[in-house]
Amino acid sequence: MTTLTNSSFEAENTRQGTAVSARGLNKNYGRGETAVAALRNVDIDFEAGRFTAIMGPSGSGKSTLMHCLAGLDSVDSGSIMLSGTDITQLNDTQLTTLRRDRIGFIFQAFNLVPTLTAEQNITLPVALANGKVDRDWFNSVTLTLGLADRLSHRPHELSGGQQQRVAVARALLTRPEVIFADEPTGNLDSRVGAEVLGMLRRASQEMGQSIIMVTHDPIAASYADRVVLLRDGLLAGDLNNPTPETVIASLTKLGA
Ligand code: ADP
Repeated sequence: MTTLTNSSFEAENTRQGTAVSARGLNKNYGRGETAVAALRNVDIDFEAGRFTAIMGPSGSGKSTLMHCLAGLDSVDSGSIMLSGTDITQLNDTQLTTLRRDRIGFIFQAFNLVPTLTAEQNITLPVALANGKVDRDWFNSVTLTLGLADRLSHRPHELSGGQQQRVAVARALLTRPEVIFADEPTGNLDSRVGAEVLGMLRRASQEMGQSIIMVTHDPIAASYADRVVLLRDGLLAGDLNNPTPETVIASLTKLGA
């Protein structure tokens, strides 16, 4: 019980403040006549403990913004603060360590290691960091995600939804400051996708996990607490407590 009490206390703490904060982000691709301004002077804050979706028409800069915020791509100018660290000032080695220790990732393609069991996949980032698995937390996460009886299975023995739940557990296990999810339900049918999205929402509401998700799906976005809209590399809208209807209406206004 002590662990649970501590966990909820930590969840409360991480709910306060800002998980990621970006100021004056600019990112261009190419030069001269073919140059594209993918991000134009973007200022944005993502509150700690909240689940935020990034949406916008194709080519509006969603992936670029997420990759820059997660330290996977560099910006041309601007700053990105992750709990006191300006990640735009870090070198490649520092960024690799930061991504491993402080950020969680969930990709459309699950990205599990086929030769490892579900349990080994979930604990891989901790093993790579030479860390020690918090068994109470591991049990709590895998139980919540309905994986307790699937831990010895390899990815090919699991359904798509189960594989993505393993990826969610892997991201949650290190209690990262923020999880970035890139179209996490893009490879799942709508029922299984809804299950995974419900689990992401619970991770944020019950565990205080900060989550930033890129999606083009209004129903997926409606699971978030907030939707940020981009158009042509600019912030073009901000919705709280979105529903599929309000998301569709906002996208329509943007001409998406
Ligand atoms: P979204 O994720 O909203 O579809 P992106 O962030 O992928 O948008 O792209 C934003 C803009 O930057 C688009 O015009 C896209 O063509 C351009 N872009 C993205 N990546 C590259 C790249 N590696 N090289 C050149 N242009 C790119």
